[in-house]
Amino acid sequence: MSLLTVGSVAFDALETPFGKTDKIIGGAATYITLSASYFTKDNNLVAVVGGDFPKEMITLLQDHGINTEGLEIVQDGKTFFWSGKYHEDMNTRDTLVTELNVMEHFDPTIPDSYQGTEFLMLGNTVPATQKLVIERMAKRPKLIMLDTMNLWMNIAMDDLKEVLKMVDLITINDEEARQLSGEYSLRKAAKKIMEMGPKTLIIKKGEHGALLFQEDRIFFAPALPLEEVFDPTGAGDVFAGGFIGYLASTNDISFENMKRGVIYGSAMASFCVEKFGTERLVNLSREEINARVQEFVNLSSFEIQ
Ligand code: AMP
Repeated sequence: MSLLTVGSVAFDALETPFGKTDKIIGGAATYITLSASYFTKDNNLVAVVGGDFPKEMITLLQDHGINTEGLEIVQDGKTFFWSGKYHEDMNTRDTLVTELNVMEHFDPTIPDSYQGTEFLMLGNTVPATQKLVIERMAKRPKLIMLDTMNLWMNIAMDDLKEVLKMVDLITINDEEARQLSGEYSLRKAAKKIMEMGPKTLIIKKGEHGALLFQEDRIFFAPALPLEEVFDPTGAGDVFAGGFIGYLASTNDISFENMKRGVIYGSAMASFCVEKFGTERLVNLSREEINARVQEFVNLSSFEIQ
């Protein structure tokens, strides 16, 4: 089945305890589509960049089978820029700079060839843009999933609440779940967030795994303890791309299949953190992915007499 992703395509400057980068390619939609490309061949992107965005990177996305017809290039504009610095534990970070640039007033166009897409991933971007994308789909997709972050809760909460009413599933981290709901307990937070619209919620807890909630059901997936963790940037997006890419490839949105999606998403995220930026994501093999998924299965399976 086909997937449409909207979200930031960006320049990032990162600092982790292991090193620092100048401007490298990042952005939620970049990570999501690259991750999903290992699962679905019908992978459509809607985003905006400035004339400063390298053509080679667009070619790289296309080489992964990503359809960039919906990637608008504003020749005299600047690409979204984000800079972040990780704390020693690498589970938390501070945003140093967010320059929305061309993303601020993006008016997304959905190419005709994207209409009819069954799975819609609203990656992190301006909530009003996420809403416009839903409204511009001629037919409501089978599953609409949304990711967001604290910045939008701080500066665009009303827009965010509007779009939350229109989606099936949201994915956010534990800190954001607490901010959005005003509850410390993640169980209570999940209940409140699901009352805001989405029937299903995934709370990401970085190196402590992810929780999937739907009605009264909860599923927990661990994160794999890794030998090398260089840069957690994009891990949440890569998780989302693996999750929804897997659902799209199986065309099954049952809770049981979402559990498998969470494991595929977690496996993809575990690759992402092993190198800076998108480096580890651009040439993975299906064998590596399957072997990693098996490690997840082995990690938490046990028998009780
Ligand atoms: P993650 O580590 O999964 O939260 O995603 C990191 C990516 O999100 C980076 O590549 C950034 O370019 C992008 N990003 C950071 N802040 C924002 C924002 N406010 N809106 C959209 N994308 C963002």
